[in-house]
Amino acid sequence: MTTPTVPTTDAYAADDPTGFTSLESGVRSYSRAWPVVFDRARGASVFAEDGTEYLDFFAGAGSLNYGHNEPRLKKVLLDYLADDRMVHSLDMLTTARRDFLETFESTILRPRGLDHKVAFPGPGGANAVEAALKLARKVTGRESVINFTNAFHGMTLGALSVTGSSMKRGGAGVPLVHATPMPYDDYFDGDIPDFVYLERLLQDGGSGLNEPAAVIVETVQGEGGINAARAEWLRGLADLCRRHEILLIVDDIQMGCGRTGGFFSFEEAGIVPDIVCLSKSISGYGLPMALTLVRPELDIWEPGEHNGTFRGFAPAFATAAEAIRTYWSDDALERATLAKGALVESHLNTIVARYAGHGLVSKGRGLARGLQLADGDLAGRVAEQAFARGLLVETSGPSGEVVKLLPPLTITEDELRRGLAILDEAIAVVLP
Ligand SMILES: *Cc1c(COP(=O)(O)O)cnc(C)c1O
Repeated sequence: MTTPTVPTTDAYAADDPTGFTSLESGVRSYSRAWPVVFDRARGASVFAEDGTEYLDFFAGAGSLNYGHNEPRLKKVLLDYLADDRMVHSLDMLTTARRDFLETFESTILRPRGLDHKVAFPGPGGANAVEAALKLARKVTGRESVINFTNAFHGMTLGALSVTGSSMKRGGAGVPLVHATPMPYDDYFDGDIPDFVYLERLLQDGGSGLNEPAAVIVETVQGEGGINAARAEWLRGLADLCRRHEILLIVDDIQMGCGRTGGFFSFEEAGIVPDIVCLSKSISGYGLPMALTLVRPELDIWEPGEHNGTFRGFAPAFATAAEAIRTYWSDDALERATLAKGALVESHLNTIVARYAGHGLVSKGRGLARGLQLADGDLAGRVAEQAFARGLLVETSGPSGEVVKLLPPLTITEDELRRGLAILDEAIAVVLP
């Protein structure tokens, strides 16, 4: 292992020391913050081609909850390929698909009292969101959807229409319609009771708000700045949806698969969404895979009405089933995640106290944690200094003001403490 050196380039400089700029579109983003060429990865570590090791507190934006190249999952994947098992299958019946569906039903859904049907909407998270929105509109015959401030649901037009970020919305090139944003939990710093505005608009025939087909919500807004909704807010939202016959869609793409402790991030609140979107860590190995879970009575699609070529990437089914068997047959991972989350939370609280007067805020739930700085420039510099010391952390929030900590759930306590120590050093450099 070589020690990382402070990069000589500005992280967002136009000139690119890696030599990719002449080949690849300028739409690249993560590579600008981390201008090195990565080669190998194992557990919570990634290695640049020169051998430099980085601790990964980014984890594929939550796609690598079980770490990089998890050995048990890797063996399943290698055996699967070595045995000439089906790789591409559209939605044809395969042994891998059956094994995944049965394992998911018996180990995830049934123990939680859920009887949702599983739809494979396509390989990515946005596919799961598009399918959810389409089905909600088909079931209710209504067009409009309620989304929340600072939400992120993906980059395709439907998903973008329920996403908050003005920068991302601006890329659409067409009007983004049929969605109405409402304040997320604590948007007014607790000054206004939950849902007064939404409830009033729904009751008032003169409000101009069309009856919504659905509400789409993240229990913790990952891209929006690690904003964690309170359990009672989520229960209030579920209750409001039920009273107004609005479908409740939980986008659990980033916060599901154990990120907040339980397999689903909404378990803690005790709510049952009508539709659930999963992707990111569902394959367990970073392979593309997504699910849209729908209550059985809502499953009114005609065969092929929502279709796609990559809805049967069977190697992902194989690793997904093994990940569920390995990590979700008991509550060991859940308990470990909550313990590690508490460790990070108390560490962040210590930082906030140490820099009283700098307006720092410690945020999050489970092992989705954030440290909010006064502005995006400061948070960006903390992430840059962390990178220079061998730690990958992303920033999120409307102006990138939150340093986001999303380590693999399987990270060791030692690695976790090592990463937090690097974060301390980075903050000490940036904050006077
Ligand atoms: C990442 C993400 C998406 C989009 O998933 P893609 O695979 O990038 O299309 C949607 N919703 C949430 C909450 C996400 O974190």
